[in-house]
Amino acid sequence: MALSYEKVIEKYEPVLGLEVHVELGTKSKMFCGCSTEFGAPPNTQVCPVCLGLPGALPAVNGKAIEYTIAIGLALNCSIAPFSRFARKNYFYPDMPKNFQTSQYDEPICFGGFLDVKIDTEEGVKDYRVEIERVHMEEDTGKSLCHQTSDWNW
Ligand SMILES: [Zn+2]
Repeated sequence: MALSYEKVIEKYEPVLGLEVHVELGTKSKMFCGCSTEFGAPPNTQVCPVCLGLPGALPAVNGKAIEYTIAIGLALNCSIAPFSRFARKNYFYPDMPKNFQTSQYDEPICFGGFLDVKIDTEEGVKDYRVEIERVHMEEDTGKSLCHQTSDWNW
């Protein structure tokens, strides 16, 4: 037998989680010197690191670290003294090398919060949004779909 809406709300507490992506204003990508500028022709802002070619070693973007720590501090997070990247294995056309360098179990910032004010029927109330983590991950590409009529057969 299904519970009524009122019984469900009485019995359970809704807990929602959001994953929010932010693009940092760096001039180059997270792990190489390739430009992040929008609007360039396809395949002009890639290098052996982006393509995951054998022997290509990523080097972390120091400005991205600085910006991410600033975000963590703004969100009242603890800043980890040690942080680690991991490979997230998947295939998708925006990352055809089959893995994305991301953070998993050791993010750079964790355990924060953001206090916000929300309008309710009883007036404006304070609400604390807990922040589990802030982490960094590799830029993905932009996929463009071409009509076959554009191709020069
Ligand atoms: Zn690159």
